[in-house]
Formats: sequence, structure tokens, C-alpha cells
Amino acid sequence: MSDPIEGVLGAALSRGCFGLLVAGDDGAARALVRDLAGALEGAHALGFSRDPDGWPASLRVVALGGEVTLAQGLRAALRQDPDWLVAEAPTADLPLDLLVTATQTGHGVLVRAAGCPDERPLVEALGEVEWAASAFPRVVVADARGVARIVAADGAPVWTRGAPLPAPERATGHGRFVPPPPLVREPTPPLDPDVLERLRARLAPHVRPTFVPVLAPPSDDAARSRLGGRPLLAPGEVWPRCGDCGAPMPLAVQLARAELPAEAAIAFPPGAEHLQLFYCTSDACGVTDPASPGARNRLLRILDRGEPAPAPPGFSGVTRLAPQDVVGWERRLETPGTEDADLPDDLREARWRLADRVANGEATPEEVPLAGPLAGQKLLGWPMWTQAPGWEACPRCGERMTFVFQVDANQGPLEMLFAADGTGHVSQCPAHPDVVVFTWACG
Ligand SMILES: [Zn+2]
Ligand SMILES: [Zn+2]
Repeated sequence: MSDPIEGVLGAALSRGCFGLLVAGDDGAARALVRDLAGALEGAHALGFSRDPDGWPASLRVVALGGEVTLAQGLRAALRQDPDWLVAEAPTADLPLDLLVTATQTGHGVLVRAAGCPDERPLVEALGEVEWAASAFPRVVVADARGVARIVAADGAPVWTRGAPLPAPERATGHGRFVPPPPLVREPTPPLDPDVLERLRARLAPHVRPTFVPVLAPPSDDAARSRLGGRPLLAPGEVWPRCGDCGAPMPLAVQLARAELPAEAAIAFPPGAEHLQLFYCTSDACGVTDPASPGARNRLLRILDRGEPAPAPPGFSGVTRLAPQDVVGWERRLETPGTEDADLPDDLREARWRLADRVANGEATPEEVPLAGPLAGQKLLGWPMWTQAPGWEACPRCGERMTFVFQVDANQGPLEMLFAADGTGHVSQCPAHPDVVVFTWACG
């Protein structure tokens, strides 16, 4: 774990606030808890897990399973008045009320909830709880690289990888207040010039422009490029509904050919003016394999001719859609992900350091594109995969499809569109521009 994160989490943990780890990868989460062992050292800390191996030695771990549920274990543990409770359990088994009570009575609680995208209802449930000190970070989302994101109980982002660190805040009202240690960040050392040059030479043939949307509050113009909001529909069409559960699907993305950079306009077949993605956000949706290109929980299409849709119907679900118009595109340069670029180990390592330098604002303008694909919504360039590269083959000809648009569920107008984190990608067949698919993966 990098120093800045340790600083943020260490400060938060030392104040006895509620920390909740949400991760899709068991190994990553456990490693993260190991990294936080310093914060638990010297404290009376009890752990609960179905798999008691591999935890820090300072933690006494109670094995869950059989007759022993997490709720029972926690009740027993609270009678011992421990400083810290550390638990690892499936989201559905978390006794949220008990965990909340524990935090409100001054116990530090650190939980890894397994499950993705099960964290959606979890974040929603936490949002309904009235917290004693709402300014503290509550939900820590981790992936294989460590902490990716910290969000408050109401879902508001506190920190996202790559952003500057939040200012430390004073505890009020609950818990044992220990002044947080000052946040000290060592600068990330620059790359060895030879290594940087090798990385540059390796990536030079793969540098591509990408276009980041410039956003503005939504207008009444249903024909313009937008993320969420009111779209165009085909003449006479009723609002699109989910092919699985029948719920109306909100618009996620609408791209208007006339407003796109020239490089992207060629992606539209002759006569087509809009590319649209509608996506089902209903909690009641029972679609299986929702991330796959063939799932019926979305409508991705190229629209030849449209007219303004009626006012959007109500949408259910925990998605935090905040519609925005796209009023421009900012051109940047980027290079492929480490796996797509097939980098050798030492250059992979160099890239991690470069990513830290970019995140901390230390990278030179020449270094920035070499750090890899950008997160966030973007048009063209290189996809930032949340998991392994997910290039799709054209269902018509088998050709590898090209990347068109990236949807970011971590933050911004489409936050939690398909999961509480992750990225989705619209891809298109280079030979058959009318063949487009949408896929996603979460951490
Ligand atoms: Zn549905
Ligand atoms: Zn094709």
C-alpha cells in the first residue's frame, strides 16, 4: 500500500471510525488488512473469518461457519469490549445494525464484505443509517492494487485513486478521539532515465488520442450528446424497457455524431446520427450474467432518426445517476493498459511508479501519457479494464472489435450504473459499424 493511503486510512482508523472494506478479491482484501496491521498493533483486536489462515499474528481470529455466525460472534466479542473488530463475511451475512452499534459505542470496526456487485445494496443500506460522525470515511473499496476509493455512508465520494488527499478532519461526537498523525507524503522518485526511455520507446507506436467529455448541467435539447437524462427515441417508440425484468431503463450514454471529434464520427454508419446506451438499474432485475454482451438488461443501438422522448419515467434501483450534457471534448493522449501493451516485469513496475507520480501531480507532461489508459468516461483511445483485458469478437464476422466509449461506474454522472465500481465499454466491429456491444467488469 502506498504511503498516502496509509496516511488517510491510518488517520481514520486511529480515531476509531468505521472502516468497511468492500472487495471482490479475497487475497487483495486480506493483504490490505495485513498492511493495516500497524494501526491494530498493541490494541485488543478480534477477527472473524471463515478462513482463519493468513491474518496478521496480532489478530485473534474466530473461525466462522457451522453454528457460529458473525452476528453471534460479534455479540460475544462486544462483551469483551475489544478496541477493534475485524470481520470478513459475505455481504448478505453482515449484521449491519450490530456493526453500526459497535461503531457508535466506540469500537473500531473493519469489515471486508465479499461480493460484487452485491455491494450495491450494501452501500444503499449504509446510506439509510444515521451516523454519529458522518464526516468520516466509511466504505473503502479495494482492488488488486490496494485502496481504489473511499466513500461516505451516503455514497458521496471521499477519495478516489488519483485524486489529491482529503484534508484530515476532527472527530466529533463519538468514539475515542486520538489526534490524527500528520499526513506526510514522500515524493515518488523519478524513473531511471534508461527505464523511462525504454518504456517510451515500447509504447510510442501505441499512443492514441482519447476524448474526455466536458460536462454541463442538462439542457432541454434531447438531441445532444449526454450522460443520462432525456434522449431521442425512434419516431413513435415508447420508452425502452429491460428485456429481462420489464422495468424502464434510464439512458446512460447518448453520442451525437455531429458533436463528436472527426476521429469518432467515422464510427457511425451512413445516415446514423446517434449512438445510445440504455441500461436496466432495477434491483428487481433477475438477468443472469448482466455484464455479458448478450445480456437483455440493456439497449445499445445506433439510431438513424429520432425525436425527443417524453419526460423520463421513474427509475428504480440504487444507481446515482446525475444526468449531464456533453458540451465539448478534451483531447488527451494515452497508451494501452499494461497487459494490452504486454510489458515486461520491470516496465510494469516502472509504470506503477509512473501512475503514482501522475496521481501525485509529480509527472512531467511527457510522462503522463505513458502511465496508461485514463479512468472515467471517455471516447476512443485505450480501454481501462477493471479486470483482465476484455476485447470482444464481432458476433457477425469474428473480428476483434474496437473500443469506442468507456463508462465509469466509480464516480460521476453514471456512478453505480451497473455496479458500485468498475468500468464498462462500448465496442464496435471495424468491418460492421452497425454491430456494437456493451460489456462491463467490476472490482
Ligand atoms: Zn432489468
Ligand atoms: Zn464484424
